[in-house]
Amino acid sequence: MEAKPLSQASGENKPRETEHVKNLVLGSGPAGLSAALYTARAQLEPVVLAGGEYGGQVSLTHIVENYPGFPEGVGGPELTELFKKQAECFGARVVFDTAVKVDLSKRPFKIEAYEKDYLADSLIIATGATPRHLEIPGETEFTGRGVSYCGTCDGFFFKDKDVVVVGGGDSALEEGIFLTRFANKVTVVHRRDELRASAILQQRAFEHPKMSFIWDTVVNHVNGNGAVDKVELENLKTKAKQDFKTDGIFIFIGHTPNTQLFVGQLDMDAGGYITANRNMETNVPGVFTAGEVSDPHFRQVITSAGMGAAAAIQATRFLENNS
Ligand code: NAP
Repeated sequence: MEAKPLSQASGENKPRETEHVKNLVLGSGPAGLSAALYTARAQLEPVVLAGGEYGGQVSLTHIVENYPGFPEGVGGPELTELFKKQAECFGARVVFDTAVKVDLSKRPFKIEAYEKDYLADSLIIATGATPRHLEIPGETEFTGRGVSYCGTCDGFFFKDKDVVVVGGGDSALEEGIFLTRFANKVTVVHRRDELRASAILQQRAFEHPKMSFIWDTVVNHVNGNGAVDKVELENLKTKAKQDFKTDGIFIFIGHTPNTQLFVGQLDMDAGGYITANRNMETNVPGVFTAGEVSDPHFRQVITSAGMGAAAAIQATRFLENNS
């Protein structure tokens, strides 16, 4: 269902304000804020609509240890604030509002947010992706206390512990193999008896002494006392249930790119990710994309930030040639 702008939803009749900007950025994760830094330095006075999750996925990460320049690591929320501050230093404006409707059929593009409308000469879409949830009891309650969607971010906290990994794709195996650096034991729980992951990852996982597999099985429940201590497993073939002791559960059952607003207006791949060329250009001239909304592959803070910079450089060049 399409969200209504607040002023309409609340029945107010006051005319909606419209602001014309040279560059609008949707999303306030590493991609969006890096894009804004670059378009701000090009004096495009970008406006960033922060979206529903300010800072994106990194802001949910306790500590980021693989973003260069921070040898001691940096907290996810702290990194977001630093990105924002740096972009603002050069004239970017971060607005805590969310786009609810876009019209990309002509320039300037029209973007409706809850608070007001924007006309944008160029648009950078950095709305990110959301890890899919199992939607089982205990999952939300224990997120950050044993339930995680990012091995690279949280693996370190599971030193010498036992963890469960859910999923049978490349992410599950790649992250599962990464987790063996810390964990004592990594048990992959997969709903079928065959993996979807690439052959090379399967071979590595099968040969790894710390990894084991439970097939045809789903997790029904996450349990614990303050932190996760067990999960309830159910074998889909035999219907047998068991309590399985674990210190953590890492869920890698795919991501959903946040592209619903652009369906029918931008080209997307079968997974719903916006397709772009290597210059971060979409099929609509003047609309660029960066970060996980168009990247099912790398999903790192640094790659998203790099894509944001690239999209911004192209947006700047586009405006120079199309003003
Ligand atoms: P994916 O390939 O869609 O795999 C998701 C896995 O989760 C599947 O095994 C699926 O089971 C399982 N699953 C889905 N919903 C579930 C549910 N509700 N309960 C239990 N299990 C569920 O996702 P991904 O692994 O994140 O990979 C996404 C894309 O990124 C792929 O194209 C992948 O190749 C790429 N990628 C590449 C690399 C690499 O090249 N190094 C690394 C990571 C990701 P079924 O198999 O039964 O459907």
